[in-house]
Amino acid sequence: MATTKTHALNEWDTLHNNGPFPLKTLYITELEGDGNMPDKLDRYNDAAKEIQRLIKETHEANQGFRAYGSAWSMNHIASHKDRMHYNGFMNIHMPIEPKNCHTHTSFDASNLFLFECGTTIKRVSEVLSAHGKSLKTTGASNGQTIAGCISTGVHGSALNVGAVQDYVVGLNLIIGPNPEDIVYLERHTQPALNNAFAEKINARIIRNDGLFNAALVGLGAFGFIHGIVIEAEPRFLLKRYVKKIDKDLALELAETLDFKNSAFKIPEETSADGSGNTPYHYKVFINQYSKEPKYVVELMYKKPYHPNYADPFPIIKQSLYRDLIYLFTKMAENFPKSIPWLVKRLRKSILPTVDDTLTGTLPEIFWDAPYQGPAFACSVGVNHTDSAKALKVLADLTNNEGPIPGIFAMRFVKQTKATLGFTKFPITCMLEIDGVLWKKTKKIMSLNEYSKRIIEVLKANNIPFTIHWGKASDWAFPGLVNHMYGENAVKTWKQHRHALLSENMAKLFSNDFLANTGLAEKDINQDNDFPTDEELIASL
Ligand SMILES: Cc1cc2nc3c(=O)[nH]c(=O)nc-3n(C[C@H](O)[C@H](O)[C@H](O)COP(=O)(O)OP(=O)(O)OC[C@H]3O[C@@H](n4cnc5c(N)ncnc54)[C@H](O)[C@@H]3O)c2cc1C
Repeated sequence: MATTKTHALNEWDTLHNNGPFPLKTLYITELEGDGNMPDKLDRYNDAAKEIQRLIKETHEANQGFRAYGSAWSMNHIASHKDRMHYNGFMNIHMPIEPKNCHTHTSFDASNLFLFECGTTIKRVSEVLSAHGKSLKTTGASNGQTIAGCISTGVHGSALNVGAVQDYVVGLNLIIGPNPEDIVYLERHTQPALNNAFAEKINARIIRNDGLFNAALVGLGAFGFIHGIVIEAEPRFLLKRYVKKIDKDLALELAETLDFKNSAFKIPEETSADGSGNTPYHYKVFINQYSKEPKYVVELMYKKPYHPNYADPFPIIKQSLYRDLIYLFTKMAENFPKSIPWLVKRLRKSILPTVDDTLTGTLPEIFWDAPYQGPAFACSVGVNHTDSAKALKVLADLTNNEGPIPGIFAMRFVKQTKATLGFTKFPITCMLEIDGVLWKKTKKIMSLNEYSKRIIEVLKANNIPFTIHWGKASDWAFPGLVNHMYGENAVKTWKQHRHALLSENMAKLFSNDFLANTGLAEKDINQDNDFPTDEELIASL
């Protein structure tokens, strides 16, 4: 039997100390050992029973329940003041066999894998590599859990791929304590697994695009995600270049993404007619305090896999251009006597020397995150065509009303199908500012005030935007979520959630984050033209 340790606590915090937040009870479930229960499916189903027992116990105590992964989200999205569940020991993985695939599936069975919620991206990549496969994209580093990633919509900078949730093809949710509360969701237009597989995990199957897309970026509020079926792809290599280029050219590329006709070219990455190739990944690093005329840009080009490439780790380990917090903390080394001291230093400092070119697999390049201390991150999504304008507006805010101890970067991500995915533009530019946490003084506004000003200036400049669900914002800003996604998308998400979950369970899986953002409540006005609950969760 899977067993759960129960700890009575007063508070809980994220990895980067964005809390603390109140908590009464922490649950930690460990799987039965494979010596006692050798069959993976048995262990998986046994864990599901244990989660249902915890949900029942929590419900009977009239409390709320929230699962969390690596606590890498830098706000209160993973927190619940009553009971929280740590998933890190729930890490079973199963390759999907052809006999488990749906008759009409368009997926190649050899690319499909089921991962239990608490499996970290690092572990997922190790498992896939052993099968000669790779994830299509990840964040800048690898410590998040797979369920944590999709719940907030984690992205890298993959121009033609999307975010992590965009290669998910099936979701196994536990939405309550009863036998019918184990469900397996897929898109009806893209079925992956057959009913026989769903039966093996005791799941009721629902094939419905609307419900699937709503649950995909579920903010931890669509029940307990037990398993996630992903589509991997054959392992590939990335050739990575880090260059300093003129600001105007870097921003022109951000706005147009026209690598073919740009004046910027990497000689090895051009086609026969001399035009530039479109990279797999484009990222711009920006020290908004410096007058340096150049930005550092990172580009990666996809190459077929072969085993004879030079070991990338000597460069990767030294690389400052990995994740933004790390670059910032290295630039701010010996931080800080004070924020003004730090900013003075940033004004004088140019972005560090660029790295050598290297080649590696996706998990080798998007590797471990080295920084562990207190940190903040704000990240807004805008249409890439608005990227230069949005950067100017936010850099001006940071310079004129700040300073804020952080620096900016831009990444670019293909559009998601998730109803509330923040990468919602045809190509979203994720404009992020990361740095160390600071205390408000008479001269320096608080993080919440800064986050509020971000929203205000983007609105004042008529730049449509979204905000990364796992990062800092003034999440209680009135009408924020409707402004970002439009009333229809918000209503669609809420109605699907309330159609799938019973009233009791919708309450149990809500938290303060959901209440602050106005997403906890079901819309009262059910228009006549809006589908009924039965239609929303019908298997199509
Ligand atoms: C060093 C660092 C680097 C980062 N880099 C990136 C990046 O490159 N790109 C990017 O987009 N983001 C990035 N982030 C943000 C981070 O990746 C996301 O916030 C991610 O969601 C965290 O995953 P997690 O496993 O820690 O989930 P948590 O933060 O623990 O939880 C996130 C959400 O998932 C829910 N959840 C988790 N497990 C379950 C489950 N089993 N069932 C239901 N709900 C569940 C939680 O309730 C919560 O709502 C970074 C953060 C850090 C600290």
